[in-house]
Amino acid sequence: MRARALSLAAKQQVAAMTAAAANPTAHLSKTLLNSGLRGTPQRELVYRVLLQTRDHPTADEVFARVRAKRPTISLATIYNCLDALEAHNLIRAFRFEGRSTRYCSNLEPHAHFRDKATGLTHDITLPPETLDALKKLLPANCAVDDIEITFHGRLASSHE
Ligand SMILES: [Zn+2]
Repeated sequence: MRARALSLAAKQQVAAMTAAAANPTAHLSKTLLNSGLRGTPQRELVYRVLLQTRDHPTADEVFARVRAKRPTISLATIYNCLDALEAHNLIRAFRFEGRSTRYCSNLEPHAHFRDKATGLTHDITLPPETLDALKKLLPANCAVDDIEITFHGRLASSHE
């Protein structure tokens, strides 16, 4: 009986560790707290949705995903949450060619590759030396806060 109880505890521990490893949003509340943003259930849910699927959704797409989990949430609340997350630098907002604003939860320096065939946006990592080389293109009196680079094209596989 005692051995079985230990075994169960061990199994639960393994399950918890596996869940934490598989779930990058496990420390979500702490991240929100560290950003100085008060973590409301709505903000946590919106942030979780953006971390789980990093496909640069629009506010409408975030709304649909959050509403699947919390049917009573309003689009206005989604916009408020997105604005708050962006203001606290937890997500980035960007827009292509006058289209809807899209949201990105990848805070590492990166460019975007927009596949015209599929409309999908992919993250392209920007190495520090590339960022430095780009900044050197500017006159010395320019202080850079942010760089936005978007490649527009097609993935080779989407030609077929
Ligand atoms: Zn991105």
